[in-house]
Amino acid sequence: MGKRHNMSGEQKRAAMRVLHEMQGGLCAFCRFAVAHPDSPDRPEHEDDLSPTLEHVIPRGRGGSNRQSNLLLAHRVCNEERGDGRLPKNAHLMWKQNLVLLAERDIEPLQVAA
Ligand SMILES: [Zn+2]
Repeated sequence: MGKRHNMSGEQKRAAMRVLHEMQGGLCAFCRFAVAHPDSPDRPEHEDDLSPTLEHVIPRGRGGSNRQSNLLLAHRVCNEERGDGRLPKNAHLMWKQNLVLLAERDIEPLQVAA
């Protein structure tokens, strides 16, 4: 497994709360709704749609745990982009997504848990 990050569970949830707000409750990649980290509907065990933190620059390549290096994404979307396979312009994709969402006034969808 190796050391992937050193954030505590509470630090992760805190980061996810901020990102959930910033991203309008949507996954950074697929733009569908992602559960709030504090949602009571969040399953005990992580499933494909559980919210996860994605490091734009992987920790293994020196990426930080700062907000600017983090995205909120579904577990499945995160894994599909996997370390090293994440596009180098992921942070730009994210910003573009936020602009697009704002321009289109998209309402976050509600996902049943
Ligand atoms: Zn997604």
